Amino acid sequence: MYSQYKLPYSYDALEPLIDALTMETHYSKHHAAYTKNLNDAAEKAGVNKEIGALLSSLEEIPDAALRQAIRNNGGGFYNHNLYFSTMAPGAGGEPSGAFGKLLEGTFGSFSAFQEQLSGLAVARFGSGWAWLSANRGGELLLSSSPNQDNPLMEGAGYTPILGIDVWEHAYYLKYKNLRADYVKAFFGVIDWAAVAGNYEAVKGGQ
Ligand code: MN
Repeated sequence: MYSQYKLPYSYDALEPLIDALTMETHYSKHHAAYTKNLNDAAEKAGVNKEIGALLSSLEEIPDAALRQAIRNNGGGFYNHNLYFSTMAPGAGGEPSGAFGKLLEGTFGSFSAFQEQLSGLAVARFGSGWAWLSANRGGELLLSSSPNQDNPLMEGAGYTPILGIDVWEHAYYLKYKNLRADYVKAFFGVIDWAAVAGNYEAVKGGQ
């Protein structure tokens, strides 16, 4: 049984950057549906692995339709758990400490990192995600994926630690066609302490 991440803040807590109606619809409709559909498909397929392990071994599901259902809905489940858990009211800004130094060392500066990740988010055609990922060796990687895919499915050993949802349901009510404005706003709600915690968990080989 896969359980939806419980929001520790209210739907209006990220206003005005992310509006309350978008948050409510996104969490209580879209994310809830991915969760229900994952549980239904996992039951039919007889799988019950930890979600990261499941998404890293989709090829082991023999039935093609169930494999695709678990890819789509398991991805949606996992990706949104990550998304909602790396946003917080009063967050944003730049990460401090060791993780802030790591971003600077890897990308040159925080603004260069933001520019590269934002570029991937804005350029992703159609629905998908832009990612900051890490591997067990502690290396960082920027990428983007279509649909509800994510780096776990690519088998290169990278686990996402921050994701920007660029499906229209994530921004259209407030930002309409202006995806770049939403991406800029998203940087104002990133909980860098949560992202740094995700990084340490991946680096520790969890
Ligand atoms: Mn979404």
